[in-house]
Amino acid sequence: MELEAIICDVDGTLAETEESHRAAFNQAFRDAGLPWHWDKSLYGELLKVTGGKERLRHFIGSLGIKTVNTADPSLVASLHERKTACYGELVSRGAVSLRSGFETLIRQARSEGVRLAIATTTGLANVQALLRSALGTEGCSCFEVIAAGDTVAHKKPAPDIYLRTLAQLRLAPRSCLAVEDSHNGLRAARAAGIATLIVRSTYSRFDDFAGAARVVDELDELCAAEPPGPSILDALRLLHQRATRESG
Ligand SMILES: [Mg+2]
Repeated sequence: MELEAIICDVDGTLAETEESHRAAFNQAFRDAGLPWHWDKSLYGELLKVTGGKERLRHFIGSLGIKTVNTADPSLVASLHERKTACYGELVSRGAVSLRSGFETLIRQARSEGVRLAIATTTGLANVQALLRSALGTEGCSCFEVIAAGDTVAHKKPAPDIYLRTLAQLRLAPRSCLAVEDSHNGLRAARAAGIATLIVRSTYSRFDDFAGAARVVDELDELCAAEPPGPSILDALRLLHQRATRESG
C-alpha cells in the first residue's frame, strides 16, 4: 500500500518543546504569585497527563493545600492563558527548533506529493508559533491538516485526534504513517489503526514502545539503516510498506 500521508505529533516529535513548556508554566506561576515550581522530575511525571489544561488541573487537584482557591474554575483557564503567552514569546525568540531531519522530510514530502498533517494535544496557538518560527511565515501551510488541542473530547492516548485527522484527510489509516515520541502518542495512533514510527525524545526515552513499527532516537538514523534509503521520505515509505504488510 502506498504511503499517502505522514501525520506528525508536535511536542517532543517535531521539536523538543517540553523544556520551553515547563519554563512557561513556571513563569505563569510566578506571574500569578503562586509558590509553585515544576522541576524536570516532576514535569516528567506530569507529562503522563496529556494537554496543558488537563495537566494543570491534575497538579492542582493533587496538592491538597489551601494556599489558593484551587476550586476556582477560572484559575486553570487564567494560568493556561498566561502560560500560552509565555510559551509563544519563548518560541518567537527562537528557543525551539525542529529536530534533526524534519525540515528535510517536510521538503521531500511536499516535492513528492506526500501529504502532511499534524495531530497534537497542544493548543493551535502553540503549534502555529512553532511552525512560523521554525519554517517561516509559510510554515503552517506545509501541513494540510492541523488537528490540535481542544477540538476533540478525549485527548491522547484516546485515538480521537487521529480519527479527526484521518477524516479531514479523507484517508484510510493504512495509507498513513504516524510519527510520535511518547507512549501516549503511540497508543493514540495505534488505536486509530495507523502504523507508527517513534522518534524518542528527552522526556520519553524510557517509555514503553511495544507496537511501534520502529523506534529511533533521531529521524535521520533511518537513512543510515535502511538501504537503499537515499532520502528520509524513502525510508519512511519502506517502513510503512513493511508495517502494513505485516499487519495483513
Ligand atoms: Mg509528543
